[in-house]
Amino acid sequence: MSDQPRPVPFMDLHGLHAGLAPEILAVWEKLLRDGRFVGGAEVEAFEREWAAFTRCSDAVGVGSGTDALRLALTALGVRAGDEVITAPNTFIATVEAVTQAGGRPVFVDVDPDTATLDADRLEAAITERTRVILPVHLYGQPAEMDRVLEIATGRGLQVLEDAAQAHGAEYRGRSAGSLGQAAAFSFYPGKNLGACGEAGAVSSSDPEVARTVRVLRDHGQTSKNLHAVEGTNSRLDALQAAALRIKLRHLDEWNDQRRRVAALYDERLTGVVATPVEREECRHVYHLYVIRHPERERIREALHSAGIGVGLHYPVPVHLTPAYAWLGHAPGDFPEAERWAEQGLSLPIFPGLAEDRVDRVCGVIRQALEGRQG
Ligand SMILES: *Cc1c(COP(=O)(O)O)cnc(C)c1O
Repeated sequence: MSDQPRPVPFMDLHGLHAGLAPEILAVWEKLLRDGRFVGGAEVEAFEREWAAFTRCSDAVGVGSGTDALRLALTALGVRAGDEVITAPNTFIATVEAVTQAGGRPVFVDVDPDTATLDADRLEAAITERTRVILPVHLYGQPAEMDRVLEIATGRGLQVLEDAAQAHGAEYRGRSAGSLGQAAAFSFYPGKNLGACGEAGAVSSSDPEVARTVRVLRDHGQTSKNLHAVEGTNSRLDALQAAALRIKLRHLDEWNDQRRRVAALYDERLTGVVATPVEREECRHVYHLYVIRHPERERIREALHSAGIGVGLHYPVPVHLTPAYAWLGHAPGDFPEAERWAEQGLSLPIFPGLAEDRVDRVCGVIRQALEGRQG
């Protein structure tokens, strides 16, 4: 028999679903019999439960995290030509939502330690066209929200949280998603809370914002056949809502498990590579565990050769992405975001990742760095 070590996948959700399958399939079977696939009791119940989980008065289920961002921006009043300030090192969806809502993205560089929007640089980016500040709780850690909110309030601006990676994260004991005027969540399968397909939600404690998103997601209908504004089709379906309700009951435990895996990595990798910085005021939920090292490629190749799954989040910052060349940015415009793009490496992390596999990942990293010349 081969004594080759087992591969370590970047993400493995089998363990999460195995135990839940009978419960999920039972509700799905009932939904199949009832024939109510879009909206309905499961969607309404999930919206109530998600509002409670994010400690907001309301939550509105939509088709994806991208739609949650886009519809929330429109609900917050973004109109053609308005500027929306965000970070350049994010998933491209953050920026797509801005331009598709008619806004113009304005980037602010990020904090070198946390990769989230650097509040010290925020004021300088505000103009009279600025309407919304859109911090991204990247990798699962909230941005520096007190400063962001203080600046926004002082300037009469709205704050939309991109919380697509931060389900259950906290900032000074407050829930990610309850910090600004509204928040967008994604339930893409690999997120900390994932559907069995596409889904998203907007959380808000502003009844007007929630009402507007509800209208926009359903073709702008305020009542049957009355299309008060132009909307779109971005409704949450019942099968996803039912699965999300079942999985939501385990989310806190899964986040605790992610935090335990992160702590194991921290112990083994501190002093070897730059490990993630968890700010004292934050509860990080480690959607991603991203290390940094100038020899990122050496480490990446070693892990890949050892059968260990890794990821890059994100190797090209949005300001240097071809799709946004029209914004006119050049390398060097946002040096901290660019450094994260060059040096960041996402290690395997998921609930249930065992300690011996973490050991193996860390062993390969140490070996890769010890074996180098000079
Ligand atoms: C996943 C993600 C989104 C988009 O969510 P989808 O459900 O895939 O549309 C937006 N922003 C960030 C930071 C994300 O990670």
